[in-house]
Amino acid sequence: MESVYCKMELHPQRPNSLPLFSLLLLLVLPHALASINIISEGIRYMHSEILKDEAVARLIELGKVSDADGFLERTFQSPASVTAGNLIRSWMEDAGLHTWVDQMGNVHGRTEGMNPNEKTLLIGSHLDTVIDAGMFDGALGIITALSALKVFKSNGMLGELKRPVEVIAFSDEEGVRFQSTFLGSAAIAGVLPVSTLHVHDKSGVTVQEALRKNSIEITEESLLQLKYDPESVWGYIEVHIEQGPVLETLGLPLGIVKGIAGQTRLRVTVKGSQGHAGTVPMTMRRDPMSAAAELILLLESLCKNPEDYLSYDDHCTPSSVQSLAGSLVCTVGEISTWPSASNVIPGQVTFTVDIRAMDDLGREAVIYDLSSRMYRICDKRSVQCLIERKHDANGVACDHELSSQLRYAAYSAHDRISDEKPDDVPILMSGAGHDAMAMSHLTKVAMLFVRCRGGVSHSPEEHVSDDDVWAAGFAVLTFLGTLV
Ligand SMILES: [Zn+2]
Repeated sequence: MESVYCKMELHPQRPNSLPLFSLLLLLVLPHALASINIISEGIRYMHSEILKDEAVARLIELGKVSDADGFLERTFQSPASVTAGNLIRSWMEDAGLHTWVDQMGNVHGRTEGMNPNEKTLLIGSHLDTVIDAGMFDGALGIITALSALKVFKSNGMLGELKRPVEVIAFSDEEGVRFQSTFLGSAAIAGVLPVSTLHVHDKSGVTVQEALRKNSIEITEESLLQLKYDPESVWGYIEVHIEQGPVLETLGLPLGIVKGIAGQTRLRVTVKGSQGHAGTVPMTMRRDPMSAAAELILLLESLCKNPEDYLSYDDHCTPSSVQSLAGSLVCTVGEISTWPSASNVIPGQVTFTVDIRAMDDLGREAVIYDLSSRMYRICDKRSVQCLIERKHDANGVACDHELSSQLRYAAYSAHDRISDEKPDDVPILMSGAGHDAMAMSHLTKVAMLFVRCRGGVSHSPEEHVSDDDVWAAGFAVLTFLGTLV
């Protein structure tokens, strides 16, 4: 899934946002740079031996931990997943962290800092993968966090963090095995239904049984106890590959995530009149394929130019439409016909619609307008339409203050590592779901995106350059420096 660049955020607002950003730099820069300079003493090459060389080596090592021969696959509680968890746990200990594995298989590493009673900063991402995955999705967020903490440990400064910091390698984000995403982070956030324990995979093994196979006993009661107390948590940050082409297009290694898009999935069924391709005159046809084509083109036009379609009534405000212009993406990814033969006018066509946008009201307005226009087209073509709503998830806005701190950290990394010297850090929207989405139910969240080659992800072609791994690690280090 790809991310969408919020053009409206970076360019038209730049004159206003830059002074605010500069003010933030003035406020935090001296303190943070002082911390970083202390950390830097006696260490050459900007900690590249930990933040770059070792981090890249670890990404490669973790990328080889797979359940499959010849490609990367790690699903919830699979043998490779357990091996990966153990490896990550050893790296957590190497960074000076106290470690444990919880009853949902999440791997935790924690340092108490100066004051164990302060609220905790959580940093995380997922250790599971899709099938035939790349080695950066999920792993990059875990490894950059551990590298940054290892620099603190190497400099004897772990104890100077003013609040506890906990890295969590979540056991499941991709949902490949149980078709239920965020098993790990949703449990920590307290939003995982207890019934999930009884969901089974293709072999009939339940979540509870999969954990038991690895000597982890979980009950409905103990699942509820995995939820963190919101009062004990300060915030959550996540580093993740962008999984889209925007940062590469801009020529920059890092970007800040404004929010994670809300999503609706529809299934549209169009029923017409099945017939012989050679004998039914064109004027007498009720062809659901042609109707579906018109519906799909309507979707494309509406989502490209929502302002031309949506009316400003109860369903849509001008601000919703403005927001949609920067974030709305719509996709028909799956289509099937019956009986699907070259010499038959189909009797039925079914296709999916995936609609994503930051603004939940705007997304609702699109669905309302799209549905009514689709039904009108079907009436005009004398075919029957059924539009079913299959899935809904509201968007998540990243926390402004936490994002500003992360933005400063990214700016610092751009400035000190990258050849590119932008006067601002790009702000992007995430069209893909991340653990931060689940964690937003527990605490404020912020995300840092890292450039990936060609915007390619969920593929062995997925690639982040060594220098960009370094920049990401340095940004986390700088962020942690503001906590000293
Ligand atoms: Zn991911």
